[in-house]
Amino acid sequence: MSFELPSLPYAHDALEPHIDTRTMEIHHGKHHAGYTNKLNAAVQGTELDGKSMEEILGNLDMSNGALRNNGGGYYNHCLFWEVMSPNGGGRPSGELAQAINDACGSFDAFKDAFSTAAKTQFGSGWAWLCVHKGGKVEVCSTPNQDNPMMPGVTCGGTPILGLDVWEHAYYLKYQNRRPDYVEAFFNVINWDKVAENYAKNK
Ligand code: MN
Repeated sequence: MSFELPSLPYAHDALEPHIDTRTMEIHHGKHHAGYTNKLNAAVQGTELDGKSMEEILGNLDMSNGALRNNGGGYYNHCLFWEVMSPNGGGRPSGELAQAINDACGSFDAFKDAFSTAAKTQFGSGWAWLCVHKGGKVEVCSTPNQDNPMMPGVTCGGTPILGLDVWEHAYYLKYQNRRPDYVEAFFNVINWDKVAENYAKNK
């Protein structure tokens, strides 16, 4: 068994003007494809062959650099494409909105916390909204392709929303202006999908 690069759930140009077409083409077709191929190379022929990403990341030997970087890279980007939509933006509703309010005080306070996590992650990494068993949500960030499901990585829980802050995610359009990219991301967040992730993992 091998992991497959998922198709984007929308066209490359669907997230314009917030995320540009060329970035989406390279990000999905080159970067995510590269993580996928290297993950498969790291897994095939080992005892991990046939296991799910959740099992692999949850029990990861953090000293296994190939698996840590490419397993994280594979999983993180699969989530990233799904939590964006050309029909995105706005705010969450229902139990997810309540959980965000419980954790952060308000949607605006959540947006501040998530944006700060994204903007202050030094170098490459990700900002996350995670859910713990029981339904509590938490904002954090991780370096490189680390993921909150990996052993001992920051907030823990299951990531339900992720923002890629590697330069490859925004540099063509935003250059050094990561804060503008972070702000633009809020126009494409697919809150219906995040709510689905919340309900499935709470
Ligand atoms: Mn990326």
